[in-house]
Amino acid sequence: MTASADIRLSALIRDKATELGFDLCGIARVRKLSECKEVLTKWCAEGLNDKMTYLIRDPDKRADPGILFPGAKSMIVTGLNYYTDKRQKHLYVPLISIYALGKDYHDLITARLEKLLTYVKSFVPDAEGRAFCDDAPVLEKPWAVEAGLGWRGKHSIVINDTIGSFFFIGVLILNIELDYDKHVEGDKCGNCRACIDSCPTGAINIDRTIDARRCIANLTIGNRGPVPEEIIPYMGRMVYSCDICQDVCPWNKNAKPHNVAEFMIVDELADMTKEEWLSLDNAKFDTLFKGTPVERVKFDRFKRNIEAISKNLK
Ligand code: SF4
Ligand code: SF4
Repeated sequence: MTASADIRLSALIRDKATELGFDLCGIARVRKLSECKEVLTKWCAEGLNDKMTYLIRDPDKRADPGILFPGAKSMIVTGLNYYTDKRQKHLYVPLISIYALGKDYHDLITARLEKLLTYVKSFVPDAEGRAFCDDAPVLEKPWAVEAGLGWRGKHSIVINDTIGSFFFIGVLILNIELDYDKHVEGDKCGNCRACIDSCPTGAINIDRTIDARRCIANLTIGNRGPVPEEIIPYMGRMVYSCDICQDVCPWNKNAKPHNVAEFMIVDELADMTKEEWLSLDNAKFDTLFKGTPVERVKFDRFKRNIEAISKNLK
């Protein structure tokens, strides 16, 4: 393709992403993210990855999309807003992170990215691509920065100056050249340190890394062992992941609710009382969480989380 054809197709792709319901779309040139590999390796060497040993495996593949998808030239990176003000109704009940209140996002985003690939192929039949959403060794956050979606906040999450940080990142790797967005330089956190000061467990390091051994998101999801006793008093009501560092961020002050029907909380979950939470059994867990991100931890680990925070409930 000529350079002008790249530009035309890239503009069409960005428009199509909007039509498919994505809130953000940027395009980055594929390269090896060597600097990220170094940060990841150091983070793991210091033990900050807790028991996520899979992060140590294949660092080259993680840093280089060309190994994951030979022939990779371009990375389309999308953002899908999941902010919502329709939440659990009762006070003093275990709280689920807002991203997990509705149906699982992986399949929905991957399906949209595959439609985007079909659209690209309608112009370039030889184009090949692979869509990923949180399910492959891809460094989604650095790629979102590279594609101009935002900067890494001090809490390490990507912030977009229009929609904030409550968005899922999806990527479509393509074997064709496109017109690339400028990556975001620097950040707009300035002197703010609200996330660092508000993190109840002190998990946010000054170098913008997270100590997974202290982060509620990891301890309630990835962690297969018991929830550490010394962390429990600081977990408050968070039973599945944690939104605190994003809730306090000034860039989320004007976050607008999403309009993705699949992500809406169902009444049965919204209405759960403290007594119902404390007596949750396997059958009710299946009814409430089948097809949602919470299903991932299965009943036993979720019950472990409820029991851990039960002392924090009034
Ligand atoms: S998710 Fe919660 S525990 Fe983890 S860094 Fe953010 S505020 Fe701290
Ligand atoms: S709370 Fe402040 S320091 Fe933390 S990510 Fe948001 S703007 Fe940056």
